[in-house]
Amino acid sequence: MIEQIKRLERIARQLEPDTERRHEHRKSIIQYTEDFLDRVYELPAYILTDDKGTALYDSPITEGPSDIEPLINIIKTNVDRPGINPASGGHLGYIPGGGIYDAALGDYLAAITNRYSGVFFASPGAVRMENMLIRWMAEIVGYPRNTLGNLTSGGSIANLIGITTARDAFSLRAKDFPKAVIYLTRQVHHSIDKAIRIAGLRETVQRYIPGDDRFRMQPEVLQKTISQDRKAGLIPWLIIASAGTTDTGAVDPLDDIASIAASERLWLHTDGAYGAFFMLCEEGKKILKGIEKSDAIVMDPHKGLFLPYGSGAILVKDTQKLLESYHYQANYMQDALSSQDELSPADLSPELTKHFRGLRLWLPLKLLGVRPFRAALEEKLLLARYFHQRLQEIDGFEVGPCPELSVVTFRYIPKHVDANEFNKLLVQRIQRDGRIFLSSTTLEGIFILRLAILSFRTHLQTIDKTIEILKEKVENLETNSC
Ligand SMILES: *Cc1c(COP(=O)(O)O)cnc(C)c1O
Repeated sequence: MIEQIKRLERIARQLEPDTERRHEHRKSIIQYTEDFLDRVYELPAYILTDDKGTALYDSPITEGPSDIEPLINIIKTNVDRPGINPASGGHLGYIPGGGIYDAALGDYLAAITNRYSGVFFASPGAVRMENMLIRWMAEIVGYPRNTLGNLTSGGSIANLIGITTARDAFSLRAKDFPKAVIYLTRQVHHSIDKAIRIAGLRETVQRYIPGDDRFRMQPEVLQKTISQDRKAGLIPWLIIASAGTTDTGAVDPLDDIASIAASERLWLHTDGAYGAFFMLCEEGKKILKGIEKSDAIVMDPHKGLFLPYGSGAILVKDTQKLLESYHYQANYMQDALSSQDELSPADLSPELTKHFRGLRLWLPLKLLGVRPFRAALEEKLLLARYFHQRLQEIDGFEVGPCPELSVVTFRYIPKHVDANEFNKLLVQRIQRDGRIFLSSTTLEGIFILRLAILSFRTHLQTIDKTIEILKEKVENLETNSC
């Protein structure tokens, strides 16, 4: 048996590369990432390929090892080439992501030391750091400083946690569901609908409150609907407000909605996955006024703080309610219960073992300070207004309302052909060109292009280039269509 153990140990020890191999691998990775970063402002924002990375199948997982260089090549051609390049400042579709460098270093540290950030007992420092970050976010949105929540993998999971917490805070039972009413708009992010389903709340009543001409929830209609529902014997329960919709960047009238929620004693969940971090700048504070009066709020550092994907957050003002939904006890965890000067993420979320997400946020915030984040967010707000203005000066373009945050909607009105068809072609041509990436939406049956500015690499130059590309593609299409 000893012989067998020793034989296995020799093989198992390959899991621990020596200094030389670590150096060699790190060198290759750094070479590739440095090259990527050196070229990132020239790289296309979108690459349409026929193969879509299928060559990955030619390199299956095997028993034996591989060298690093060919592997980097596989990643380069099959992963980092086809599709949208979210690291590009030219990514102006959907809600662009981030990927600031220092966050990658935070991830590297977190992965090497592998701190167990789920439970205070196991890693008091890591848990303190994450809770500190959540309190910092609480301060940004004007929540009390002792608010806690959870650093999630993204906004979708944060919305799910928020909605289950709202369900439990109201002690809703299955028999109440057909009478419990959720108030929201058609513009809420689809992760809200998904969360309602996952939380087993499909049978609740969902009232879609009509929006105004800018797709913002109309508070008077909300108030009237709640009153009618009460009279009808239903249980008004939850209001879901958007602090920046994904589609048009619309901000619901948060202050008015909060007053209604308070007087009607309803739970107010605010989805600020896209917009909440604009609270870091003065203009954003004006637009998001009243956000602090909600019961829970979702924020996405992988959007508004330019982190790499995998960082969302939920903050629950009455943190006790979150704890009641998510705490747990297990015999094998009994050692963990004794010391508790910080609540553990494992008691505030569905996760137990999790990535130490705090470090990828803490390190850049500490290394850079908050100022460049604040400036970048204000820059994005202004770039959106700039684009909105510039586009109006160009013949044939029709713009949506002046952007509240950093999403601009627009379309081109062609001289001879159907506008919807023309704009569909226009977005296709832009995507095929690939220098920038735009996406489209449909608003009241009209095909609309949208420009979403949130990449930390999007600057004035990018927007000027976008306008040139739009002009060029429109000219081409107009010439071909008459
Ligand atoms: C992006 C987004 C979400 C979903 O967040 P993920 O991080 O993609 O899971 C939810 N709500 C809004 C408003 C969003 O923009």
